[in-house]
Amino acid sequence: NLSQLKNQSLIKQSSFVNGSWLSSKNSFDVVNPFNNESLLQVDDIEITQVEDAVSAAKSAQQAWQSTTAYERAAQLKKWGELLTENLDDLALLLTLEQGKPLAEARGEIKYGISYIEWFCEEAKRVYGDTIPALSNSQQVIVTKHPVGVVAAITPWNFPNAMNTRKAAAALAAGCCFIVKPSELTPLSALAMAELSLQAGIPKGVFNVVVGTNAKAIGEVLTTHADIAKFSFTGSTAVGKLLTQQAASTVKRVSMELGGNAPFIVFDDADLEAAATGLIAAKFRNAGQTCVCANRIYLAESIKQPFLAIFTEKLKQLTQGNGLNDVQLGPLINQAAIDKVTELVDTALSEGAHIHYQGEASATGYPATILTNCNNTMEIAQNEIFGPVATIFSFDNEQSAINLANDTEYGLAAYFYSQNINRIMRAANQLKFGMLGINEGIISNAAAPFGGVKQSGYGREGSKVGLDDYLETKYLCLGNL
Ligand code: ADP
Repeated sequence: NLSQLKNQSLIKQSSFVNGSWLSSKNSFDVVNPFNNESLLQVDDIEITQVEDAVSAAKSAQQAWQSTTAYERAAQLKKWGELLTENLDDLALLLTLEQGKPLAEARGEIKYGISYIEWFCEEAKRVYGDTIPALSNSQQVIVTKHPVGVVAAITPWNFPNAMNTRKAAAALAAGCCFIVKPSELTPLSALAMAELSLQAGIPKGVFNVVVGTNAKAIGEVLTTHADIAKFSFTGSTAVGKLLTQQAASTVKRVSMELGGNAPFIVFDDADLEAAATGLIAAKFRNAGQTCVCANRIYLAESIKQPFLAIFTEKLKQLTQGNGLNDVQLGPLINQAAIDKVTELVDTALSEGAHIHYQGEASATGYPATILTNCNNTMEIAQNEIFGPVATIFSFDNEQSAINLANDTEYGLAAYFYSQNINRIMRAANQLKFGMLGINEGIISNAAAPFGGVKQSGYGREGSKVGLDDYLETKYLCLGNL
């Protein structure tokens, strides 16, 4: 439990606004998803306090954007170093509130820190342009400026990294930032707020608002005139709603929404490598990531041998308390278990077969392989968000690509092949923002993360990751 944290100052129970911890009238329980026991009671923010957070960020904006990129980078660097110093505690906190195995939690904290490290360097490389003018008496210059105050809403599946990915970019660009983490996992964000304070990041620059009334908080963050940009990671349904709300003040919007990743194994694939990649792409975080493999397309000719290797590997995974040496933790809550159960039951009624099912802890869902799936099934058109591998088959390359593209989503896709011509044909035709080619884990702060179609727009990380937080200004100097 929380008493195991060495640095008890990381345990915080209320929103962090303008450099202070707020207290509110009501509170709510943060629960350990493995045993449903309460970890901590956290103050439930009042709507006027969310408005206070916007005022605080607005007041801090001018001073923050007037610092040099070097000064901002130094502060962010310090913040990242403090996260690294507290890595063990942050990972423990993350596993306690989210459920993922401790090894994965450590991986997530390091991944989260990698965005801070990346953006403190990128801050120094916000370049403008000079452009040939139409006459010699003119000069054309393009400059970049922070957009202003940024608000964000983040999900429960990566309580650390989904915050740093947005916050580090915003802060590096010179924008003050307000984040509403998921009410299911607010503790990691609050611990990061404490470390931002220790790092000396000025008050009002980084604010965390925690509360159960997501709808009302979201309304403030998407409609307030003093917020210039809104960034969201979460479900497509909520993303559509928030995009609509943000239209009322024509805010800049970034949306990282749901996925429905195909995972294609062609007949010339290295089956051993593909099975290893699939275990990672499907079962990381018990299947609760937006880039998890959701539909597994196997060439008929390798289907049986591949399934044998894959099933053998899956049997090695154990499920239980993320604090123990397991590879699969619980699902986030009962609603998540119910949703996966319903998708599987419907798939079975539509003709799928259970090829393998492991054992589950009371709060988990058993690792499952379903065969005989097809694209008309409900499970093929929905994000499963659980440890269920659905197996489809195909008879030729083009039909595999067509089946893979047959979804409204376009976040990640994976495929395995040893034939470079086929690899390039598939890469050119797959309508997804990110492709894992002979690779099951693709996240990297230096690479552009994001989707197409109804998986959203905007890219996080990489050399383009700051663009979402910058305005472009064109200066035309005449009569020179
Ligand atoms: P997930 O499937 O990851 O739970 P959600 O889109 O439901 O996806 O949640 C992602 C984030 O969006 C969470 O922080 C949640 O509190 C928030 N959220 C959910 N519904 C709304 C809403 N109507 N308005 C604003 N935020 C919301």
